Amino acid sequence: MTADSSGLKALLWMQRRNYFIGAGCLTLGLVLHCVVTWSFPRLLVGLQAAWSTIFALMGLCVGAGWLPMKWAGVIASVIGFVSLTSFVLLSGGPDSPYFCMYAALPFILAVFTPDSRMPTLLSGGVSLVAIVIVNTMAEVPLPRVLLQVTSYSTFLGLALVGTRMYRHMLDAQLAAHQERLRALEQLAESERLRARAALERAEVERLVLVGQLAAGVAHEVNNPLAFVKANLSYLQRETADEAWTIEREEFRDVLDETKQGVMRIQQIVTDLRGFSRADPLGEQQEPGVLEEALKEAKRLASVRLREGGEVALALAPELPAVRLGQRHMVQVLVNLLINAADAAQSAQPPRRPHIKVSAHREAGGVCLRVEDNGPGIPPDVLPRLFEPFFTTKPPGQGTGLGLALCRDYVARVGGTLHAENHPGGARFVLMLPAASDAPSPTAYELPNTRAPGSMKPEALG
Ligand code: ADP
Repeated sequence: MTADSSGLKALLWMQRRNYFIGAGCLTLGLVLHCVVTWSFPRLLVGLQAAWSTIFALMGLCVGAGWLPMKWAGVIASVIGFVSLTSFVLLSGGPDSPYFCMYAALPFILAVFTPDSRMPTLLSGGVSLVAIVIVNTMAEVPLPRVLLQVTSYSTFLGLALVGTRMYRHMLDAQLAAHQERLRALEQLAESERLRARAALERAEVERLVLVGQLAAGVAHEVNNPLAFVKANLSYLQRETADEAWTIEREEFRDVLDETKQGVMRIQQIVTDLRGFSRADPLGEQQEPGVLEEALKEAKRLASVRLREGGEVALALAPELPAVRLGQRHMVQVLVNLLINAADAAQSAQPPRRPHIKVSAHREAGGVCLRVEDNGPGIPPDVLPRLFEPFFTTKPPGQGTGLGLALCRDYVARVGGTLHAENHPGGARFVLMLPAASDAPSPTAYELPNTRAPGSMKPEALG
């Protein structure tokens, strides 16, 4: 049901109630008259009973919507007038105790049918005529009749003004209601537009993201691909002649290096599967051995560390194996080393990367620090560092997934990874629980900044 139809229903219900009240008042007036005068004038009783019944029926018809309110008001005013006049004539003419009711009649009609002027005007007009006739029949002096007519006209005027004000008020309310509806429609429309714009923006962001990711992956695949291609060309050249000039030892080295490149590409593909969660993170990996992982990470990051970059190791002896799997450990270290090298090279003027990796035993595990000689992490970047897709690197060079992925891996085994600045650059501190310690179920919670399956192709070195 709409607001309009429910409003109309309420109005009809009110009108019906008014007619019922009218019928009740006519009956009550009759009963009071009979009781007070202790008489039972048949004509009066018959007429009043008929009017009451007609009022009650009209109430039913108006309530059901069968009788238009305006016409019901006109009929009610005629009935009221005839009923009152019969009462007046049958109870003493101008001296009747009901004569003063003529003044009230327009007001009663105005209250009953405020939305229309006609019933008030009609009942007022006929009442005015009735006053003149009743007074003339009773030979009332003309000045008195004139006074009565004047005062009655005043009442009628006031009643008319009242209904007019009410109509104006209704019109104003209706206009305000329509204005409100229009404003609501505009609001709904702008909300629709906003939602559509948000959808479009999300789609654009998604495409940008896919583009960045694709650029990053292409970049990472290109590196090993370049040296695989170079090695294969070299072997092709060297073995073109019947008499091979290449030494057996060198041949094996070049093949090994080529194999490493192919494996690295395979690794990227495997981790991309991890990104789509096809590769479950709960997979079994052997516990990480820091020395070996560092050796592997240094080798993998060497492409980016060329131009004289150096990695100095300061590892405490007999570090325990850690709970972070070897493969993920290498991935985390490569990412930290590459970021450190990038930071040093992004300094103005660019610096030769000098990275210090230190590790020592800590209660329950190993603490590892990676310090660089870059410009450090700006204060506005520091809180966003581990957000997935947050990067300050130019398009194609950074995806912003590396640190998010590292923290994810580390957190999954109950470790922590955080960043800080030291006087000469940035420092990343990695806390890893020892593999021998039983994993605690509440050891970590997934960081809420993690993207589903986040990974960083750069980290694959
Ligand atoms: P990416 O390397 O693709 O940008 P990361 O998640 O690895 O993504 O790094 C996010 C950002 O953190 C980098 O873009 C860089 O601004 C900042 N950052 C990471 N490591 C360092 C560092 N050693 N020194 C300064 N800033 C760093």
